[in-house]
Amino acid sequence: MGESLRPATGSGEARGSGVLHAIARMSSTRTNYLVGQTADFVVSIALLGAAFWVDHSQPLQAVLVLLLGLFIFSFIEYAFHRWLFHGPVPLFERGHTLHHEQPLGYDSLPFFFPPAVVLLLAAALALVLPAATALLLSGAIALGYALYGFSHLIIHRRRFTHPLARKWAAVHHVHHYHPDKNYGVTSPLWDFVLGTWYVSKSKVRVR
Ligand SMILES: [Zn+2]
Ligand SMILES: [Zn+2]
Repeated sequence: MGESLRPATGSGEARGSGVLHAIARMSSTRTNYLVGQTADFVVSIALLGAAFWVDHSQPLQAVLVLLLGLFIFSFIEYAFHRWLFHGPVPLFERGHTLHHEQPLGYDSLPFFFPPAVVLLLAAALALVLPAATALLLSGAIALGYALYGFSHLIIHRRRFTHPLARKWAAVHHVHHYHPDKNYGVTSPLWDFVLGTWYVSKSKVRVR
């Protein structure tokens, strides 16, 4: 684990890999974690606010686009967790491995990365959709991401008293013991759809 953060000793790719290692080191700090979480909410609210400012003449359509964005994000959350964070890309996989080993650590994506991706997404959507819809859809996806980050934060750092909240948190704690199950953090929707929902053996009838 510590190996992965050790600075490159070769001379050839030293500068490039040095930058990557510096980013990797920064990504494990509490400051990066908190700034990132704040930036995610700020960017989502800014995009939603901008969408409202550009066009607020069709509130029902706006609500539907907002819900569509949250739904799209629920799949992004699942897909990224399953195929990227538990996948072959070292930069992403490495940080998530650290999280699995130290659930209370601060390893996360570089604070600037999700907002940059969301802003690029907004720009790309604006090429094919009306500006207000593009801002609203990207803002909703960004909101989904910010809520996912906040959910993950409180799942690991809070002790819930409400039974439903405890069950909700338990689903993700199970993922830490069975990394090929329960990829959804905010909801189990895609685990149900794609067959990765963890079924407790104690609840399986053997007869
Ligand atoms: Zn976790
Ligand atoms: Zn995981």
